[in-house]
Amino acid sequence: MATYIGRFAPSPTGELHLGSLVCAIASYLDAKAHNGSWLVRIEDLDPPREPAWAAPKILKTLRVLGLSSDEPIVYQSDRHHLYKEALDYLITNKFVYGCSCSRKQIAEYQNARGKPANIYPGICRDKHLTEGIRAWRFKVPSEDRFFRDRHFGEYRQNIEQEVGDFVLKRADGFWAYQLAVVVDDHQQGITHIVRGADLLDNTPRQIELQKALKYSTPSYMHIPLVLGENGQKLSKQNGATGLDLENIDAEIDKAWTHLGFERFSFDSCEGFFSKAVDLWRKSPYFAE
Ligand code: GLU
Repeated sequence: MATYIGRFAPSPTGELHLGSLVCAIASYLDAKAHNGSWLVRIEDLDPPREPAWAAPKILKTLRVLGLSSDEPIVYQSDRHHLYKEALDYLITNKFVYGCSCSRKQIAEYQNARGKPANIYPGICRDKHLTEGIRAWRFKVPSEDRFFRDRHFGEYRQNIEQEVGDFVLKRADGFWAYQLAVVVDDHQQGITHIVRGADLLDNTPRQIELQKALKYSTPSYMHIPLVLGENGQKLSKQNGATGLDLENIDAEIDKAWTHLGFERFSFDSCEGFFSKAVDLWRKSPYFAE
């Protein structure tokens, strides 16, 4: 079997909830079912949204679950030099450009054309700005792009129409998730990504970045989301609560049945995972 290196990459903006537990379990089981390794990476790129207790709490939860990273845990906050190197390469090779637009200017421009303000229409693309640059944006192709997801099948997107030229370095000076995730997945040799379906529509952007940076593209599997009471992705805003570590068996059971499996009884996390790996191998999730 080919090499398999998977990962779980939570942003420490709060504690793990059922939705993130599902992703942790699915990425872990898929890695182990392929006799692969599973790495944990803390995506702490946005300090204003990250309470100091969140990363330790996430790691504690993983310990309680008995899920341990096969390599030392990586923190994105230690890796700014890698993102800078990648951005410099992209600037030199004209894959990105400096943009001076404020959010308000973009909204006004788009409103005047009856277009959504969250799509960037390339206002600064051909200005070749050298001053007044607020953010760095990646030039997206105008043709449709598609990739094959292991769970959802073919996913097609016109990045220009649905997203526009996206930001790699933000006006507040922080690195954008899109750049950091692509650089780190490459640097860590990740071959298989298993994560929540909320990121399905981010994947074509990440694949474009990989191509520009001459990285290989990993295989992707997006896992159906756990929805909150309002039918939206489970989050703190719609009632997601942290996991009950005193009752971790019940939490595992909820995550497992969400993944579509039948419940079975187990008396330890270790017991659960060893049986679950076998069941995963026999399930439709398991494919090369
Ligand atoms: N850090 C992202 C999140 O917690 C996930 C990144 C990824 O799996 O690509 O939503």
